[in-house]
Amino acid sequence: MSVRKMDKPNEGVKCVVNTCEYYMSGDHCTAEKIQVEPRNAKDSDDTDCATFTAKETSSMR
Ligand code: SF4
Repeated sequence: MSVRKMDKPNEGVKCVVNTCEYYMSGDHCTAEKIQVEPRNAKDSDDTDCATFTAKETSSMR
Protein backbone atom coordinates (compact mmCIF):
# COMPACT_ATOMS: atom_id res chain seq x y z
CA MET A 1 0.00 0.00 0.00
CA SER A 2 1.48 3.29 -1.05
CA VAL A 3 0.60 6.24 1.16
CA ARG A 4 1.11 9.86 0.20
CA LYS A 5 3.71 11.71 2.23
CA MET A 6 2.44 15.17 3.09
CA ASP A 7 4.58 18.26 3.64
CA LYS A 8 2.92 18.82 7.01
CA PRO A 9 2.09 16.71 10.06
CA ASN A 10 -0.94 14.49 10.24
CA GLU A 11 -2.48 16.23 13.25
CA GLY A 12 -4.28 13.10 14.37
CA VAL A 13 -1.11 11.13 14.94
CA LYS A 14 1.76 11.47 17.39
CA CYS A 15 4.60 9.11 16.57
CA VAL A 16 8.10 8.76 18.01
CA VAL A 17 9.42 6.27 15.44
CA ASN A 18 12.22 8.43 14.09
CA THR A 19 13.51 5.69 11.80
CA CYS A 20 10.37 5.86 9.66
CA GLU A 21 10.32 7.54 6.26
CA TYR A 22 7.17 9.43 7.32
CA TYR A 23 8.53 10.67 10.64
CA MET A 24 8.89 14.43 11.10
CA SER A 25 10.81 15.99 14.00
CA GLY A 26 8.56 16.96 16.87
CA ASP A 27 7.12 13.45 16.90
CA HIS A 28 4.88 13.99 13.91
CA CYS A 29 3.76 11.63 11.16
CA THR A 30 3.46 13.00 7.63
CA ALA A 31 1.64 10.01 6.17
CA GLU A 32 -1.75 10.99 4.80
CA LYS A 33 -3.18 7.93 6.50
CA ILE A 34 -1.81 5.06 8.56
CA GLN A 35 -2.80 1.47 9.12
CA VAL A 36 -2.44 -0.19 12.52
CA GLU A 37 -2.35 -3.94 13.04
CA PRO A 38 -3.01 -6.67 14.04
CA ARG A 39 -6.66 -7.59 14.47
CA ASN A 40 -7.40 -9.10 17.92
CA ALA A 41 -4.43 -7.45 19.62
CA LYS A 42 -4.47 -7.90 23.40
CA ASP A 43 -2.76 -4.66 24.39
CA SER A 44 -0.89 -1.71 22.94
CA ASP A 45 2.39 -3.62 22.89
CA ASP A 46 0.85 -6.01 20.39
CA THR A 47 0.02 -3.29 17.91
CA ASP A 48 2.18 -1.65 15.32
CA CYS A 49 1.99 0.73 12.43
CA ALA A 50 1.84 -1.20 9.17
CA THR A 51 2.51 1.98 7.22
CA PHE A 52 6.02 2.18 8.67
CA THR A 53 8.67 2.34 5.97
CA ALA A 54 12.32 2.31 6.91
CA LYS A 55 14.03 5.58 6.19
CA GLU A 56 16.92 5.60 3.74
CA THR A 57 20.07 5.12 5.81
CA SER A 58 21.72 8.10 4.15
CA SER A 59 19.09 10.41 5.63
CA MET A 60 19.34 9.00 9.15
CA ARG A 61 22.35 11.05 10.13
S1 SF4 B 1 3.86 5.90 9.21
FE1 SF4 B 1 3.55 4.96 11.24
S2 SF4 B 1 5.61 4.61 12.05
FE2 SF4 B 1 5.79 6.04 10.34
S3 SF4 B 1 5.75 8.10 11.27
FE3 SF4 B 1 3.64 7.56 10.69
S4 SF4 B 1 2.71 6.61 12.49
FE4 SF4 B 1 4.95 6.61 12.78
